[in-house]
Amino acid sequence: LSEFHKPGENPQVDPKLKEQHLAWTKGMVYTRFPPEPNGYLHIGHVKAIMVDFGYAKFHGGRTYLRYDDTNPEAEEGRYFQSILETVRWLGFEPWKITYSSDNFDKLYELAVELIRRGKAYVCTCDAEKIKEDRGMGKGNPVACEHRDTPIEASLREFERMKNGEYEEKTACLRMKMDLTSGNPYMWDTIAYRVKKAPHHRTGDKWKIYPTYDFTHCLCDSIENISHSLCTTEFIPARESYEWLCDALTVYKARQYEFARLNLQGTFLSKRKIAKLVNKKLVKDWDDPRLYTIIALRRRGIPPGALLAFVAELGVTNVNSTTEIKKFESVIRRYLEDSAPRLMMVLNPVKLIIDNVPDDYRVPVQVPLHPKIPVMGTIETSFTKEVYIDSEDFREVDSPDYFRLAPGKSVGLFKAPYPVTCTWYKTDPATGKVTEIHCNLEDSGNAKKAKAYIQWVNVPEAVHIEEVRYFKPLFKSEPPPADFEADVDPESLEVYKNAVIEPAFYELSKKAISDARKESEERTKKAKAEAATETAEKHGEDEPVATA
Ligand code: ATP
Ligand code: MG
Ligand code: MG
Repeated sequence: LSEFHKPGENPQVDPKLKEQHLAWTKGMVYTRFPPEPNGYLHIGHVKAIMVDFGYAKFHGGRTYLRYDDTNPEAEEGRYFQSILETVRWLGFEPWKITYSSDNFDKLYELAVELIRRGKAYVCTCDAEKIKEDRGMGKGNPVACEHRDTPIEASLREFERMKNGEYEEKTACLRMKMDLTSGNPYMWDTIAYRVKKAPHHRTGDKWKIYPTYDFTHCLCDSIENISHSLCTTEFIPARESYEWLCDALTVYKARQYEFARLNLQGTFLSKRKIAKLVNKKLVKDWDDPRLYTIIALRRRGIPPGALLAFVAELGVTNVNSTTEIKKFESVIRRYLEDSAPRLMMVLNPVKLIIDNVPDDYRVPVQVPLHPKIPVMGTIETSFTKEVYIDSEDFREVDSPDYFRLAPGKSVGLFKAPYPVTCTWYKTDPATGKVTEIHCNLEDSGNAKKAKAYIQWVNVPEAVHIEEVRYFKPLFKSEPPPADFEADVDPESLEVYKNAVIEPAFYELSKKAISDARKESEERTKKAKAEAATETAEKHGEDEPVATA
């Protein structure tokens, strides 16, 4: 992107406005991250955050967090809160936090000005008629009878819209653009619509709300954004973005597009995720089967790993879908050197060693990481009774199977000797194996085991109330349009009997408190950086945007 930032080389900017803009920004890069607060952020937003904050940071510039709150029905307080927390968790601190709704008065004035300039009109056609006139898919768009409403009349009607005299969907303000254009964004796009829902910040002051197409470019202008970075689906919208700024002769930011992040097997859309949550097809926004940032965080993925993933994909404007395998391998590589290896048995069955005394207990030291000795070791003991996973035992052996079966030997990870299965018990009612009896092969002739399995000693085992194991949420790849019916009810497996070794429990507790501390540190550091930066380069007052 850096090649685009050459001040003075954007011929589309009016020289006078550019001068004002440069006087205010001192030529610094200004970007914004503009989420609509209608849900929790997802992994796609990590990319947008990195591009928006990263580009400005690289150029010594500044980034706004701008809540694009023009849709009162969809917005909730908890989303605002969580968006800021997420940005900070990722290690970024906004230079300023703004709201599109900060500009509702100004935007209204600009809409009035647009009508005065003969470039907008109030249209009272219904949605069907507007769609038909726009020729959706077939033929050229045609003008409706309201397009030539005299300016004075449109001003009056717009005032009536503002005063709540129109019901929802009975009137809108449309921009008088270019019906001969090949670009649908130029077919008299809607600028304002009637909405009677109260707004999170402005209460019931407004009965009309500006659309994305009207709001976005003007807020960019008001905030003196130098690089309005967005995803490629906005390429066709760029023409209308520029049209509006030019129609009002206000400073015009330059829009640049980059490809969305798409992940295989899931979708990244707040609206669709909200549907899954509302219909209780997942537990909540942080359900680990989702790719929301709070869900990934809950899975234990550190912010650095998410940043590494996005960095590895790079930024281009070619759309593609990334495989989940790729995501998992980057995360695993990131955690490889820091994650301790600990033992858990999901479906425990007792393994009893018959040829040792009842009080048999051999201390064993297990390294926390096979390749990183400095990580240390944990102490546990190998006892007469241990739990192993029922999946590590088969009643009927086969030559391509290397774990435990009657007459067969297997190694128990870090235990002094392998064990050989001599007999086993089953529950007559269910046919399930309930006990596996073995001999310890401590005679010198014990063969080296072909496989090693996990175990947890019975006396010290920590019983876990519930272990949740997550598989892909959808049965199909890609999930179909009717995605609700495609949710796999078996994508969440619950284990009620799992056991872990005590060190697992202790280290997990520590990891959780460390992660919490680290997150607080990150926020503090990002805030401090932003404060120093602002103190050093302070020199701004009110932005300039003049109609
Ligand atoms: P959603 O469809 O999930 O609601 P959106 O596309 O409407 O998301 P917003 O949250 O309203 O996006 O906008 C925040 C910014 O994040 C926008 O600039 C948007 O382009 C960007 N963004 C959203 N999804 C992705 C994605 N998958 N990859 C990259 N950037 C994204
Ligand atoms: Mg949106
Ligand atoms: Mg969207």
